[in-house]
Amino acid sequence: MKVLVTGGAGYIGSHAVRLLQERGHSVVVVDNLSYGHRSIVESTLRVPLYIVDIGNKEQIKNILQKENIEAVMHFSAYALVGESVTHPAKYYENNVQQTLNLLEVMRECGVLKIIFSSTCATYGVPAEIPICEICPQFPINPYGSSKLMVEQILRDFDAAYGMKFVSFRYFNAAGAHPLGDLGEAHSPETHLIPLILDAAAGRREDIKVFGQNYETPDGTCVRDYIHVMDIAEAHLLGLEYLANGGTSDFFNLGNGTGFSVLEVIEMAKKVSGKEFKVSMAARREGDPPVLVGSSDKVRRVLAWKPQFENLEKIMSDAWNWYHKGKAKLET
Ligand code: UDP
Repeated sequence: MKVLVTGGAGYIGSHAVRLLQERGHSVVVVDNLSYGHRSIVESTLRVPLYIVDIGNKEQIKNILQKENIEAVMHFSAYALVGESVTHPAKYYENNVQQTLNLLEVMRECGVLKIIFSSTCATYGVPAEIPICEICPQFPINPYGSSKLMVEQILRDFDAAYGMKFVSFRYFNAAGAHPLGDLGEAHSPETHLIPLILDAAAGRREDIKVFGQNYETPDGTCVRDYIHVMDIAEAHLLGLEYLANGGTSDFFNLGNGTGFSVLEVIEMAKKVSGKEFKVSMAARREGDPPVLVGSSDKVRRVLAWKPQFENLEKIMSDAWNWYHKGKAKLET
């Protein structure tokens, strides 16, 4: 298929682009480079890059028509929970309004298949663990709310215009491409694993553990870390599913296993062979104690099976990327 990938210069999008190429699909990337990396698309992936806002209706329409796009994978979004609390308008404008523009133009051009990046943040503080897709969704920050709004818009576009969607609610994306040339590089960095690796590499003084008195086995927050390659694979399965006439649906994307902040730190020490300072800090606002997703539905309906579910593999791929691709990006 001919697929337009928004946010293809970013972390998860770039892995999906590579997998699409490997499976014989033709890809173009749209990215405004507010967070993505131009060299990843142009030099590493070598696919056409349009530097455009996804909300720019005129230019997106031109691209959809000129490139004969058949489906869209929509990764681009702002995704910093803390920033969404202090700057909600930025999140609603970018994640909701610009996505609405994209969907409108897709409808006008008859592009009626989309794979959407949603999030476990739509569940807020979950009513039960593991979280399943029918659990109530009460987001506790504007980031989660913005993604939930798009989920509703997708439902409505399907009902009104027959636009088919697969929406993946990601848990904690982690790891990197095993070749070490694609991975996570955010600026500013707020995510646990890249920050720990900075500490292991001696580039930050310590890693701060946000909260030690949660109701969890060791008192620190528990998250479901999922390898970015397994996320990319799910997107390919989602695309195939829609191409074969699958009905619109929502799927959690997690491994179903939780690791605490301290367990992740211990694994980083093991994989890197480095010792570094671990400091205790206050809780971070808006952090639920435990987020672990049930992946039963995506396994059953899309026949998804994670290949990289072990934390040691996730961490060693992240560490490999840290020294190879990420170091190169920074030079
Ligand atoms: N965390 C931490 N120290 C840090 C960054 C994150 O203790 O410097 C914790 C955070 O409170 C959460 C977990 O690590 O419990 C994962 O956070 P991250 O920001 O990576 O992902 P999130 O779960 O917010 O999507």
